[in-house]
Amino acid sequence: MREKPLSSNAAVPERLLELRGVVRSYGQGERQLVAVEKVDLAIQAGEFVCLLGPSGCGKSTLLRIIAGLDSATSGIVLYRGEPLLTVNPYATIVFQTFALYPWLTVLENVEVALKARRIPRPERRERALRLIDTVGLDGFESAYPREISGGMRQKVGFARAMAVEPELLCLDEPFSALDVLSAEALRGELLELWQNRRIPTRAILMVTHNIEEAVLMADRVVVMGKDPGHIVADVPVTLRHPRQRKDTAFQAWVDRIYGLVTGRRVAVAVAGAQARKKLPHAHLNALAGLVEKLLAEAGHNDLYRLSGELVLELDDLLPIVEAGELLGFVTVHEGDLILTPLGKAYAEANILARKELIAARILRLPLINWIYETLQQDNNHRVAWEYFLEKFESDFGDRAEKQLDIAIMWGRHAELFAYDDKDGELYLEG
Ligand code: ADP
Ligand code: MG
Repeated sequence: MREKPLSSNAAVPERLLELRGVVRSYGQGERQLVAVEKVDLAIQAGEFVCLLGPSGCGKSTLLRIIAGLDSATSGIVLYRGEPLLTVNPYATIVFQTFALYPWLTVLENVEVALKARRIPRPERRERALRLIDTVGLDGFESAYPREISGGMRQKVGFARAMAVEPELLCLDEPFSALDVLSAEALRGELLELWQNRRIPTRAILMVTHNIEEAVLMADRVVVMGKDPGHIVADVPVTLRHPRQRKDTAFQAWVDRIYGLVTGRRVAVAVAGAQARKKLPHAHLNALAGLVEKLLAEAGHNDLYRLSGELVLELDDLLPIVEAGELLGFVTVHEGDLILTPLGKAYAEANILARKELIAARILRLPLINWIYETLQQDNNHRVAWEYFLEKFESDFGDRAEKQLDIAIMWGRHAELFAYDDKDGELYLEG
């Protein structure tokens, strides 16, 4: 953990940022989408905070609001205790892929940021050179972006962001577009700069959907959930630096944060799905694979180990887990995935019995049941796709088509009903 500055300047408050009840929504009326809802968040000087959550939970939205590039629909954003009304002069964002000017050299790309801040030319050059050296790009000052690797281009992005010496450095998934090795090297460099106070930045706010990255770097992890984006948990990570991924204590933290991300999210999603009858974006074949894997592992496993072994990103694994919970095949408990007796029966059944079991289970879902009943009642057992879409639109707005796609996919999997591309109709199978 980084220590507080010894001689803290009394004029600069320790609390740099504060969000109170921040809401950001897009669109109006029926089409309105709430990206983040009632977010309360404070950042103190000396903190390295990670915002962690699945994609679409509003992480980038919050970062843009904090940097003053976007404004909240309602709620209060304070920086140094003052309402933030324009672009935040104390904050800079590093994006996932940094847009460099292709016609400028590495040095000029860093200098541009200083020029924009009206820093005189000689100082500009000196500072830019120092930063380029700091991020490990010494010797590449006169190279053009196309001549260097993606990892190096991202380093230029870091240098450019740090050159302006932001008080609050905001990072939006800064390592996710890099290959594994470059990402790890750059993480190490950033931590080294920060912990040894080689940059004057007083707080870092980093967005990520990578749990290990958050545990590796942050003093505090703020876990977000979605639909709409909200804060689920705010936990200090008390592990000492340097942190080692292989340490048992490190793994225990990853496990714990995993539990926070998945446990609540799955519980909320399942409750939400039942209330709003929403289906998770999951292939039932993938669910079959997951259930089989669990059976082979005596019925339970850590979710984060599973995602590693199945080579699935969290965002891909979670909908499958949600589908498993919705059908009653698995339960989630503190980051562990557990096979239910029903799930076990499914995993051990033959293909025909599996289809029947899935059919019985999905017919309990109001959405699928309604499609099935509608087709039953039609004389030819065929009804136009648009008819279903219209009905779905009143429930799901923009997401209606995707929801209908999933319902059809599941219906087909269970051989209940299918879609006839030629006539644009749904029809009963069997
Ligand atoms: P994250 O960074 O966590 O992946 P975002 O902040 O990018 O999430 O997005 C949060 C939600 O807001 C998403 O549902 C996204 O589709 C929506 N959203 C973001 N920006 C816009 C926009 N300009 N117009 C409409 N919807 C948006
Ligand atoms: Mg984002």
